[in-house]
Amino acid sequence: MMVFVKDPCGFICIIFTYAAVVYADYVVIRWVVVQTMSDSLWGPFHVLIFNTLVFLLSYAHFKAMLSDPGAVPLPKTRVDFSDIHTGELSAMLQNKDDWTVCTRCETYRPPRAHHCRICKRCIKRMDHHCPWINNCVGEKNQRYFVQFLIYVTILAVYAIALVSISWLRECPLCSREITIKQTRILHSIVLLIEAVMFGLFVLTILYDQIEAIIHDETGIEQLAALGSGSSDTPKLSYRKVLLRHICRLPCQSYQPTYRHLPSHTV
Ligand SMILES: [Zn+2]
Ligand SMILES: [Zn+2]
Repeated sequence: MMVFVKDPCGFICIIFTYAAVVYADYVVIRWVVVQTMSDSLWGPFHVLIFNTLVFLLSYAHFKAMLSDPGAVPLPKTRVDFSDIHTGELSAMLQNKDDWTVCTRCETYRPPRAHHCRICKRCIKRMDHHCPWINNCVGEKNQRYFVQFLIYVTILAVYAIALVSISWLRECPLCSREITIKQTRILHSIVLLIEAVMFGLFVLTILYDQIEAIIHDETGIEQLAALGSGSSDTPKLSYRKVLLRHICRLPCQSYQPTYRHLPSHTV
């Protein structure tokens, strides 16, 4: 099932992400490879590898953005909550002690599912809503999200390496024109700043995701543990809170990502 969340913050982040990727590709091809590696086969090789990584990044991003993150199916008919503890519904939930009711979706949801106010759905094993993929990170699309983070990290490191090589390497056939040289240096510096900022940001989220997968604890569960004072790693959890604020940086005036909604344990 394909999904596309209508969230202005998500739109801004998607445009920003692809603008950054297209700009990085432009600088690498036009100002790094063509200007400093045109005298060797390393030039076409780097263009091929860099663009393959850009394609893989875009593919993983599209999959993370458009895949169903694990939405809890909505009932065909609305649930009558007055019947929660009686007859038919109690029988239905007899062996589902940990199931809860979402009053927004008006349905029952399995353990570890949470309601996302932006997606307007309950998501199974919801980690967080990420505006950078304009979707929730949940049970079914977390692997695509992690792949996307890995490709961004590799591309950032690769871009830094290419700029460094272009500054160190002698190129006898390259243009000596001063304006071209200045423009190349300017674009290279902007690309370096972009690569370092995105690289560090994404690397932190990647670390966060891998840790969540290893400990089998979603971002929401870690925040909940922090709120209840039962977290074993308070410093780590504060870092996660900070990370989520940075995640929403392009849309600070917009509504908060999510919060725990009142639910009735049945
Ligand atoms: Zn819900
Ligand atoms: Zn969401």
